[in-house]
Amino acid sequence: MMRRIVAVVLLGEPALTDPFGAVAAAAELAGSGRAEAILLARPEDAEAAAAQAAREGAAEITLVTDSGLSDPPQPEHWLELLAGLLAEDARGMLLLLPGGAVGEELAARLTMRLDAVPLGRCGRIVEDGARLIAHRAAYGGRAELVLETGAPRCIATMRRPAAPPKPAADPVIRRADLAIPFAADAPRPEVLPAAADRPKRVDAARIVVSGGRGMGGPEGFALLRELADMLGAATGASLPAVDAGWASVSQQVGQSGAFVAPDLYLAVGMSGTPQHLAGIAPHSRIAAINSDPEADIFRVAEVGLLAPWQEVLPRLIATLRDG
Ligand SMILES: Cc1cc2nc3c(=O)[nH]c(=O)nc-3n(C[C@H](O)[C@H](O)[C@H](O)COP(=O)(O)OP(=O)(O)OC[C@H]3O[C@@H](n4cnc5c(N)ncnc54)[C@H](O)[C@@H]3O)c2cc1C
Repeated sequence: MMRRIVAVVLLGEPALTDPFGAVAAAAELAGSGRAEAILLARPEDAEAAAAQAAREGAAEITLVTDSGLSDPPQPEHWLELLAGLLAEDARGMLLLLPGGAVGEELAARLTMRLDAVPLGRCGRIVEDGARLIAHRAAYGGRAELVLETGAPRCIATMRRPAAPPKPAADPVIRRADLAIPFAADAPRPEVLPAAADRPKRVDAARIVVSGGRGMGGPEGFALLRELADMLGAATGASLPAVDAGWASVSQQVGQSGAFVAPDLYLAVGMSGTPQHLAGIAPHSRIAAINSDPEADIFRVAEVGLLAPWQEVLPRLIATLRDG
């Protein structure tokens, strides 16, 4: 029997920058087969979300609505809805959740609830008959891990593939109106206001101005923030800059930090290690300022400025301020 390829779309969570990315990944994986999408949405958002899922390539769409979904929704509620929907379904399945912290937490918990095999954060998965071959980055992208399994139920997280999705022509849409008595009893999340001086989330910004160890101290980061404010950008940082206390943990970009997908990523005083670059989407254009001509960041940057930042940033800020 053919394995179902099912992507999950979680709507309403502000931390998810690309909620439909896993649908595009499922459609690519399914090839000429039929990719499915399960959409968890409030009733008022459901129709628009179904249309978007079809544009991303989902040929079969299950709209799971629950008017009790809070704003933002609670992951525990999603967990109950998905477990309720899938627990009784004995068919072979690969379930794909969106990349990032929200999708990964849900993937881990669903794996336990559905007694599935966890494939983790995958870059690519291919089907070989009844088997799945999953490719994952290991050691900060220095090596590739290839996992092979014939387990009937597998769960992975995947980001949007590079190739644009092919829209599904005539998708089948099913509705499942569930009312899980959850929200009333559950504790409400506390929504904290964004820090006054940092209005932009690094993982949702179109432009990121990011600093590394080469910034040398908090003074350099103050200049980066000034530049970021002028550009309407978010400020990012490498792990050593966060460890030094020049930036907050939420600003860390990389393998163990945030995944960012801006149009422009300005990397200042950072060498461009695989662990840092693992947090930047392949389509982002990188510009770099670095004083070392051998710095690896110049291998991936489209624009590189070989100079100490102390010479460049004040002039850049002055030029932007004075027009
Ligand atoms: C399991 C694991 C997970 C990790 N996760 C992450 C992660 O999520 N994110 C992350 O960033 N790192 C991560 N790291 C750390 C990573 O290996 C590197 O140590 C880190 O990325 C290096 O940061 P950097 O580029 O700021 O510093 P460095 O590599 O020290 O580079 C500093 C750069 O600044 C330049 N420079 C110095 N002075 C100036 C100046 N005046 N003007 C311009 N340029 C200057 C230098 O030429 C150099 O290229 C991880 C490591 C491990 C083992």
